[in-house]
Amino acid sequence: MGHINLSETKSVSYERAEIDMGYTNQSLRINLQTTDIIIRPIEKEIKDKFIGGKGYDLWFMWNAVSGNTQWNDPENAVCISSGPLGGTPGYPGGGKSIVTAISPLTGAPIDSNVGGYFGPYKKFSGFDVIQIDGKADRETIVLIDGIENKIKIFEASGLPSDSYEMSRELTQYFDPEKPVNVSVVTAGPGAENTFFGCLNFSWWDAGRKRVRYKQAGRGGIGTVLADKRVKAIVARFGAVSMKTNNPFDLDGLKKVTKSHAREIHELDPKQNRMALVGTTHLVPIMNDHDCLPVHNFKFGSHPESKVIGEEVYEHIFDKGFDGCWRGCAVACAHGVKDFSPFTGPYRGAKVFVDGPEYETVAGCGSNLGIFDAQTILEINFYCDAYGLDTISVGTSIGFVMECFENGQITLDHTGGMDLSFGNRFNALELIHQMARGEGFGAIVGKGIRQMKEIFARDFGSDPNFLQDIGMESKGLEFSEYITKESLAQQGGYGLALKGPQHDEAWLIFLDMVHNFMPTFEDKAEALHWFPMFRTWFGLCGLCKLPWNDIVPEDNNTNPEPAKVVKHMGWYAEFFSSVTGKKTRPEDLISMSEAVYNFQRIFNLKMGYGTREHDTLPYRAMGPVTLEEYDSRKERYDSQLTEKYGMDISDLDPPAKLVALRRKREEQYELLKDAVYERRGWNRDGIPTLETVRRLGIDFPEVVEVLKKNGVE
Ligand code: SF4
Repeated sequence: MGHINLSETKSVSYERAEIDMGYTNQSLRINLQTTDIIIRPIEKEIKDKFIGGKGYDLWFMWNAVSGNTQWNDPENAVCISSGPLGGTPGYPGGGKSIVTAISPLTGAPIDSNVGGYFGPYKKFSGFDVIQIDGKADRETIVLIDGIENKIKIFEASGLPSDSYEMSRELTQYFDPEKPVNVSVVTAGPGAENTFFGCLNFSWWDAGRKRVRYKQAGRGGIGTVLADKRVKAIVARFGAVSMKTNNPFDLDGLKKVTKSHAREIHELDPKQNRMALVGTTHLVPIMNDHDCLPVHNFKFGSHPESKVIGEEVYEHIFDKGFDGCWRGCAVACAHGVKDFSPFTGPYRGAKVFVDGPEYETVAGCGSNLGIFDAQTILEINFYCDAYGLDTISVGTSIGFVMECFENGQITLDHTGGMDLSFGNRFNALELIHQMARGEGFGAIVGKGIRQMKEIFARDFGSDPNFLQDIGMESKGLEFSEYITKESLAQQGGYGLALKGPQHDEAWLIFLDMVHNFMPTFEDKAEALHWFPMFRTWFGLCGLCKLPWNDIVPEDNNTNPEPAKVVKHMGWYAEFFSSVTGKKTRPEDLISMSEAVYNFQRIFNLKMGYGTREHDTLPYRAMGPVTLEEYDSRKERYDSQLTEKYGMDISDLDPPAKLVALRRKREEQYELLKDAVYERRGWNRDGIPTLETVRRLGIDFPEVVEVLKKNGVE
């Protein structure tokens, strides 16, 4: 402490808006170039159509950017909103923020749903949504102070470069007496030097007396903020209770909160034990169902997976009640104290690691052939401290390792590093290089889509092979599930608006583990309603985990178990009791449809959003190599004969590989047709005029984008 130097360049006092049934009905725009601070009312029509959260973010971004805006143009806007239900203490998962920007990886809108206290503090300070645009000349800190009712912009110097220290020092700086009043959003050095920089959102862990954080990981929003030279955005607010959101029906809200929290307390110990092991319970489940990524998604299980699963992390995690928002009964946000890294700038020091979650274990562990819980912790720690998305890091390094083992790249290209699967020291070295923007790490930090071009152009690699094994779609690296045997999850990834991230349509559990959607029609139908429901959490400022990770004991007796109908009823009550709008479970889906279709058209505005952009690398659909085919030979042979009625007696292994590929690619295209039709889109995957009219989003500028794309 003590070496931070903040120089105030702008300070504006404001009258804090009263919260009205979950809303402040105000937005805050900060332009970093002009230092203009603009507070505006939000129109009722926008509130009704876009609800809040991701809906608000997308609407404000749509108005900030043109179809030609690149990720590093000043007009690209980072928007953060928490939604009307966000900031409800005690409701499981009731405190999320949703962040959006035009992504450096995809060129289209990206959204990330993240914990920590920033979103609620920002709202209670008076703003449903904030928009940060322009670019600062110098390193900048933005403060939204809901206690003193001031917005301030500072020039900063002497700040630590990594997120870990920066969050800690700024928390102390802005409220040394009550650090619980502060939440900090930071990007780290990795965000400055890669395209997949994340944002760390902090909260004060009163029990451990330390700053903790969660990541808005996907799509490089940290890279955008770093490009704007914003080192941190800070929100400060005081005590929060259920009354702070000024709900319409406080008693109703208390009742439904109690019901959902009580059920989680009763059932989590019998189901996932997330209060003890977080999401690491998924490691053995995915391994058992052949869905755990191993060696760049080649295989779905590995005998050593038990050394990186829940049994191990249960003992490593520091015991405590670990919610990333106040009173979340799931309490899955675990961490490890007194961890001592064996590489990098923190080598030998004692640090706290926030995580790991399943995605980090799978992406940076099994997918890299690293079956060592300590190395995964170290990768997790440095990715957070540097501000790097662990999913893109893990999936990108997996791609590089397979290229290395396959001879597509050599020691000459990697700077002499052996990048065979399992080489944990060089995986870590690559991450340090990414953060510094040096060596081969600088190339890996550009992401898989750009690596494919560089490897083919400069290193003479086979572009077709790179295309088949490079686990990206729309420019975003895959999150960590093997989808070869789940057509539903192939659609869940390939048709996701922002790219292959499971938060939009996480169907693999329902499809592979529960077998809730056995027919083709079931899968297409699920690809309509599931993303709409997941979107709803992003509109309202909620975490999606409490919906279907812990389910009622009699859920399977319901005719639609996949929807967890009892919880849908609770969420409808939650929405009604806060906003005063009488809401039925089926309304949750219709609320989302307008925003979901608007986002698809936003992609179209940016030059994407059609059928050709919903493609997958073949490895997501089936075996690329003979080694993969052979590893599951019985399964693939029997599918060719029994499912597709082929006589394979005369086919050699390469011919079988080709035959299987043809069938699987056909299935995926048929699925696209069925889903587009169900969603009210044309065969090219564009919402029809009839659809946008039905949803009430037929604004002139929306219709103009459709017309430019041939929809009349
Ligand atoms: S369920 Fe886990 S991730 Fe979601 S809000 Fe609760 S603690 Fe955070």
